[in-house]
Amino acid sequence: MPELPEVETSRRGIEPFLVGEQIRDIIIRQRSLRWPISRDIDKYLPGATVTSVDRRAKYLLINTTIGTAILHLGMSGSVIIVDTDTPAAVHDHVDIVLKSGKSLRFRDPRRFGSLHWSADADQHWLLSKLGPEPLSEAFSASYLWSRSRGRKVAVKQFIMNANIVVGVGNIYASESLFLAGIHPRRAAGRIALRRYELLVATIRDVLERAVRAGGTTLRDFYGGDGEAGYFQQELEVYGRDGEACSRCDRPISLVVIGQRSTFYCKDCQH
Ligand SMILES: [Zn+2]
Repeated sequence: MPELPEVETSRRGIEPFLVGEQIRDIIIRQRSLRWPISRDIDKYLPGATVTSVDRRAKYLLINTTIGTAILHLGMSGSVIIVDTDTPAAVHDHVDIVLKSGKSLRFRDPRRFGSLHWSADADQHWLLSKLGPEPLSEAFSASYLWSRSRGRKVAVKQFIMNANIVVGVGNIYASESLFLAGIHPRRAAGRIALRRYELLVATIRDVLERAVRAGGTTLRDFYGGDGEAGYFQQELEVYGRDGEACSRCDRPISLVVIGQRSTFYCKDCQH
């Protein structure tokens, strides 16, 4: 599934082809995604000029002079830039056709993605309740500490809650907690400020490394096969149950927390 780093990599990959370009047309071959594609997209996008391409959580925001197209890649979606006459494959559901002769193509085999239109994206229901970006100043130890007081929820679930902070997916939560030495089941409200300082630093570091790893794939966004932008990262604990911990050599454990597989070291995380 595309996580925040993959979406950020996608943003960087498509941005140079979109900004300043006028949209000539939109071709929708399949409207039934996670939610049906809004008719407003057909109405407003053609003729609009792209002013910027942003990301909020795992949403790509294609900002234009009159509003924003909000694209989510779902479980299996990807975006690439193609020459407009490139034949569409079976899962290529949407083309945003540019005057430049290129198109932004959205491919999504499992159709859990979505495409919405909003005149004011910050106020859109998908985005308005989201917590801060993990790589922004607003995400800090004091913020996590104050939001967690009195809460018994496991810290792993707490940092994966998009109302608290966006973009900390299952892999990144396990990895960050290992690096910070915090047990994933520890109650969020019982973690001291100084430990949250370490956790915030490790979350940022893990995500930044993943974004950097994705940066090496940027050239694949034009003329690629639609699989570009996804990458493997070296992982300390995720997917490594039974293997030796890199710090203490004892086996990595696997538990289920909040219905998600959670990998950790019993000896290194408290
Ligand atoms: Zn260990």
